[in-house]
Amino acid sequence: MKVMKFGGTSVGSPERMKNVASLITESGEPTFVVLSAMSGTTNTLIEISDYLYKKNPEGANDVINTLEKKYMQHVSELYSTEEYRQKTSRFLSDEFEYLRSFTKDLFTSFEEKSIVAQGEIMSTNMVVNYLQEQGIKAILLNALDFMRTDKNGEPDPQYIKEKLQAIMQEHDGYQIYITQGFICRNAYGEVDNLLRGGSDYTASLIGAALAAEEIQIWTDIDGMHNNDPRIVDHTEAVRQLNFEEAAELAYFGAKILHPTCVQPAKYASIPVRLKNTMAPEAEGTIIDNVLVRGKIKAVAAKENITAIKIKSSRMLLATGFMRKVFEIFESYQTPIDMISTSEVGVSMSIDNATHLNEIVNELKKYGTVTVDSDMCIICVVGDLDWSNLGFETLATDAMKNIPVRMISYGGSNYNISFLIREADKQRALQNLSNVLFNK
Ligand code: ADP
Ligand code: ASP
Ligand code: MG
Repeated sequence: MKVMKFGGTSVGSPERMKNVASLITESGEPTFVVLSAMSGTTNTLIEISDYLYKKNPEGANDVINTLEKKYMQHVSELYSTEEYRQKTSRFLSDEFEYLRSFTKDLFTSFEEKSIVAQGEIMSTNMVVNYLQEQGIKAILLNALDFMRTDKNGEPDPQYIKEKLQAIMQEHDGYQIYITQGFICRNAYGEVDNLLRGGSDYTASLIGAALAAEEIQIWTDIDGMHNNDPRIVDHTEAVRQLNFEEAAELAYFGAKILHPTCVQPAKYASIPVRLKNTMAPEAEGTIIDNVLVRGKIKAVAAKENITAIKIKSSRMLLATGFMRKVFEIFESYQTPIDMISTSEVGVSMSIDNATHLNEIVNELKKYGTVTVDSDMCIICVVGDLDWSNLGFETLATDAMKNIPVRMISYGGSNYNISFLIREADKQRALQNLSNVLFNK
């Protein structure tokens, strides 16, 4: 079975939903479909939660009313029969009543995660109703019945696999199985989610749970480009990536993939194909086990990075110094992205600065601490094994006019990372494209 995931833009209008319906039914084979919320909806639901949090029911109601009008308009455009218009309108009206219920009594606690979950719940209902109206044997499976995270907030693959396989067996014989991306329950059974962009993660977790033959991520661009197309001119789709290369790109900022989406596919050895809903004939990108030797594939950038340097000539060479430093980060659940050491100090970068003050306070016990905010990691990805002579020189050469705060190379065979100022990001990415790809 194939898993096909469609992002927000791909289900962003009735027209697009019809397009998705024809893409998923084309092969005639049983297919598992994961859908995001219609584009803009998750942001709007977050806005509603924010008004509720600020105890402003009028603000929340205004946004709810505007959103409801939009959805009711979609209903009249999507369905051709009165039966399905009514069925879907009734469903959506209940949804909006549910959202309004939180504006009526501001002193009952409202569930932000439950509000945000309604985007995917609405889009999947709309599409499954459309397919059924077209006479297709389609069924909606509720992600909240099988998608679950553990006490660390990580997906629980064993639980997901057992639950989903049991549900699939119970509903044997359908052509299309649809579920919501993004949403899940946590270890305590509460509604939760896999973070922004998390529908990709849902798709790969499902692919792994069902031992799918392929996981397809359908979006609004023809695959992974060799640089960020929102920032850099003349980017091109990369035809093939190794799982490790794709994981590095996703983790270091290529927005087309959720940071952790590659992992489940990699462990289960299931190829991931990135495809363009607007141009299905375009080849897209295949992510698999193959490693093309001797090639730099792509560049990505991750913003909002903080660099922390601790200098201590007295302590550094003493055994146990690094352990103490790492323990401080660990105790505040703050992962380190990049690290660089010298005889007199160590520099690290983090992307979660929630506990920065506490971390810095504790580090000061062991040395002089400097913090640089508004930094950015530029990550060059490909077969960067040290046997490829001159590859690191090529990358550093492209950065020759950019102040570089840290460099990391050799941590894996797939990446070289540079830590620079966010203000230099565009220039650095464009230089890298010019030197590495647009020769
Ligand atoms: P979806 O809503 O389908 O999940 P996203 O907006 O999350 O889509 O991801 C697709 C977008 O990612 C593209 O429109 C593109 O602007 C952006 N993007 C950033 N970096 C890259 C890259 N290296 N290759 C392709 N797209 C990228
Ligand atoms: N709807 C969610 C978001 O906007 C999840 C997703 O689209 O992947 O982040
Ligand atoms: Mg996305």
